[in-house]
Amino acid sequence: MDNSYVDEALTDAETAFRQTRGQTAESDLDVSTAALVQLRKACRLLEAARTLREQNGYYTVVIEASFVAVEHSIQFYLLYRGHASGEDLRYEHTEVYQQGRAANLFSKAFADCLAQLWKQNRAKVYYRETVASAEQADAMLSLADAVHRYILDYASLQYECVCS
Ligand SMILES: [Zn+2]
Repeated sequence: MDNSYVDEALTDAETAFRQTRGQTAESDLDVSTAALVQLRKACRLLEAARTLREQNGYYTVVIEASFVAVEHSIQFYLLYRGHASGEDLRYEHTEVYQQGRAANLFSKAFADCLAQLWKQNRAKVYYRETVASAEQADAMLSLADAVHRYILDYASLQYECVCS
């Protein structure tokens, strides 16, 4: 790929992430705190997942987006309540579930179930040992939505949610 059109595309991508001045920012993410950015990312991912789900198909993307929305919702709470700083959140995907348990958002059993679900999806769907189904996409989207709403209620910050 070196010295080809791919190399050029890679350079362009690097530049896009390095020189951000004057770029078009995603709406609803221009909030004052790191915690709210995580919350709004979850809102936007859920909205994107709902939109794709209505289009019929795209189950893999809906499942992936749902998992990431769960992560962002939990990260929002951890940051909002001061259980974590920005750097603390740069860990493995499943680690956030243990952090959520430590912050008393849910039990160890619940955290372990989430981690198990994530590992199963990674192992099977992501690497195409099995193909994602409509039922899995619906179940994951419902779960991500429930986690999101629960955390908003728990933090009494429903008004910060931009989900439709
Ligand atoms: Zn929301």
